[in-house]
Parts: sequence; structure tokens; C-alpha cells
Amino acid sequence: MTHPVAVIGAGPYGLSTAAHLRARGVPARVFGAPMVSWREHMPAGMLLKSTPAASSIDAPQPGHTLLDYCQAAGERRYESDWDVIPVETFARYGEWFQERLVPELEQVRVVSVDRRTKGRHPGGSDFELKLDSGEQFTARAVVVATGLSGLAYLPPELAPAAPDGPSATGSLSHSSQHRDLSRFAGAHVVVVGAGQSALENAVLLAEAGAASVRVVARGRGAVRFGTAPDGQPPLRPETPFGRAWSLYALTYYAEGFRHLPPPTRKFLVKRVLGPLGAWWLRDRFIGRVQVTEGKRIVRARVEDGRPVLTLAGADGPASELTADHVMAATGYRVDLAALGFLGHDLRARLAVSADGPRLDAGYGSSIPGLHFTGLPAAASFGPVMRFVCGTEYASPRVARAVAGLGG
Ligand SMILES: Cc1cc2nc3c(=O)[nH]c(=O)nc-3n(C[C@H](O)[C@H](O)[C@H](O)COP(=O)(O)OP(=O)(O)OC[C@H]3O[C@@H](n4cnc5c(N)ncnc54)[C@H](O)[C@@H]3O)c2cc1C
Repeated sequence: MTHPVAVIGAGPYGLSTAAHLRARGVPARVFGAPMVSWREHMPAGMLLKSTPAASSIDAPQPGHTLLDYCQAAGERRYESDWDVIPVETFARYGEWFQERLVPELEQVRVVSVDRRTKGRHPGGSDFELKLDSGEQFTARAVVVATGLSGLAYLPPELAPAAPDGPSATGSLSHSSQHRDLSRFAGAHVVVVGAGQSALENAVLLAEAGAASVRVVARGRGAVRFGTAPDGQPPLRPETPFGRAWSLYALTYYAEGFRHLPPPTRKFLVKRVLGPLGAWWLRDRFIGRVQVTEGKRIVRARVEDGRPVLTLAGADGPASELTADHVMAATGYRVDLAALGFLGHDLRARLAVSADGPRLDAGYGSSIPGLHFTGLPAAASFGPVMRFVCGTEYASPRVARAVAGLGG
């Protein structure tokens, strides 16, 4: 009997992988809430930093780009590098992609994945899955495409300001916990971080009527904005992220990344395409958001119901900052321990390299039949895997490898 392949995740990576498996005639069951990170864990009114050319979910057949969606749905056409895409449009595009190419999606959670112990396939790659509907079934391969889910990162020095964990209604939250920022009208808010998410949340908070918004960033000169499309260097190759030779290699030759030494890969995943505000955010930011740069948060506490941050810089004494709320826009980190649905035995056996699962050319881990795509694949295939456009590289390769595993 041929068991299906299980794809866990219905964001851009899971949907794209599922569409490629379907096109190859590989029976697959696909699980997750479609585009949930975009619908529920990003602020309303957010604009994508990626350009329209870099914001399509890869499909095995033509007709499924962001622009195809805009035309089909009668939405404004997002096509030039000057067009900035609202998160609401992108979420609708993902749902349209799902309805057309992955109609069999099952909107349930996978509770656990374990290796099947009895009656295993001679290849040894069968998995036992439990769903939150109570169903159990066997899959011959599993593709983990759970993206950002469960990987929000809170620096340990901030944790004491959220004794019960970060929450949108408490003293301290993670940026992923917000959809509607209007609750902060009239409030004094500190945003920690200097990436696009920190800077854009700060602007959206100010525009939502916050009494004051201050960005606190560790590095001196950390708050920076990118270059508009007409300011890109002309003699360098074009990539979805701008013009640069390094980005060209990382985008189109991602396979080579796997062969770099682990410390180099860790460095590149962290630094390339690192914290930088979008060019179009600068004018909305300046004059509205206050900035404290070159200061490290060394402690955080709650006093009289308000969060208090202790800041230390290279020069001068430590200072304190009090607010009504602190939002940590401190990003996401791959942490295999946070993928709680993966059985203990599987996690213990997974070979790890550069803080991610060690993957082969088909995105397969050290456990035959267990594949990872999207964010956890960045340690092997580079920073492009953190972005939607990475589906173009990843999905055909994952599908080819999984199809090749045979029934
Ligand atoms: C604020 C912000 C802005 C961003 N802007 C951009 C941008 O402009 N351009 C860009 O290219 N990238 C952007 N990104 C990165 C982008 O979010 C990721 O590249 C993309 O969402 C990754 O897609 P994914 O499919 O891997 O994961 P996600 O979109 O996070 O989807 C995860 C899926 O896994 C499912 N899931 C999780 N656990 C389970 C389980 N146990 N069982 C079943 N299903 C499960 C969820 O339901 C969901 O369907 C941004 C990220 C953030 C945080």
C-alpha cells in the first residue's frame, strides 16, 4: 500500500511544495491554516518589503503569480518595483493560490510525528502522524513547512518584564502577537529592534495614535533605510532583493551555500539581508518616531504595572526607560526544540548544522523521508529561504526528491 506524503504547513512554502507534489502526481495530505502568519501575525496596514517580482509563490505551471492573481481578482496590478504590496492583498493571493492548486488542504493541526515502529517499509521511511481531529495515519515522507510558527524570539533580558510570557495585552509583547494596533492609541510604546518589522510597527503605532513611540536599537546607526529602485547600482546583476553580485549568487546558486563551513553559513544567514527599513518607510518614520541607538537593554522589569528597561551604552551611565508597553520586534530563530510536534526520538536523531537541520540537495534531513523547507532550510540553502521568493528554488527540489523516494 502506498502511503501519502504529509506536508505540514499552508503558508507560501507548504502550499508551493504541495502544488509541485500534485503536479508530479504524488499523493499528499496537506495540513495547516492557510496564510495564517500573514493574516494573524502581522499588523493590519503592513506593506511588504519585497517587490512584486519577489513576491510570487512558486507554482509548477504558469498562471499563479501575484500579478495573475491581481488580474483574476480585479485588484490593483502590483508589478513595478515602485509598487508596494499591502499584506491583506498578499494574504488573499495566498488563499487564491491554495484554492486553485491545493484544494485538498486540511485545516487541522498535526499534533505529533513519530517514526513508525511496526511493519515499517523496507526503506525505513514511514512516519506515524496524529492530527488534532484525533485521526492517526501513516505517511511515507513528511515535509515540514511550519515557517514562523512557534519560532518568535524574545531576548532573555526582556523576559522578566513578561513573567507570564509575552502578550499583546500585557506589559511586553512580541511583534507577532499583533494584528490591530489601534489598542495603543494614547499609549507610550517602546519598540525593540531595528529591522523592517520594528520600524514599520513603530510607524503604524504612531499612525494609530500612540502618544509616543520610541525605537530602541543596539547598534549605533542601526536605524537605516534602503535605496529606492532608481538608486540601485546599474552595473550589478538584478536579483529579487536588489542589484548585487553576492545576492545573485545566494539567490540562483543556493546549492553552493550548503558546502560553506557552518560558522560562515551562520554569519551569512544573520547578516545578509539583515535589519534595514524599506526605502518607502523613511518619510513616514522621520519626525514621528523617536530613536535610542547604541544602547543595550541589560534588564527589564515591571513597576507599578508599567515596563521599565535599563539601558547601557559604551559611554555614560546606565539609564532607564519607562513605557506603557514594550513591543519586542526581535525576529524569529530556528529552534528545533520549539517544533514540539516532532517526536522526541526524531528530534534527538536529527543531525544539526549551523543551528538548522543538516539537509541534502533535496532538502532531506539525516532521517530518511523527513524534509524541511522555508526558514529551517536557511542554515543549508542560505538567507533566500527566509523569503517568499525562495519557494522558486526550494519547492521543485523538495518535490523531486520526495517523488524519487518511491512508494
Ligand atoms: C513582519 C514580517 C514581514 C515579512 N515580510 C516579508 C516580505 O515582504 N516578503 C517576503 O518574501 N517575506 C516576508 N516575511 C517572511 C515571510 O513571512 C516568510 O518568508 C514566509 O511566511 C514563510 O512561509 P512559510 O510557508 O515557510 O511559513 P508561514 O507563512 O509562517 O506558514 C506556516 C504554516 O504552518 C502551519 N503550521 C504550523 N504548525 C503546524 C502544525 N503543527 N500542524 C499543521 N500546520 C502547522 C501554519 O498553520 C501555517 O499554515 C516577513 C515576515 C515577517 C514576520
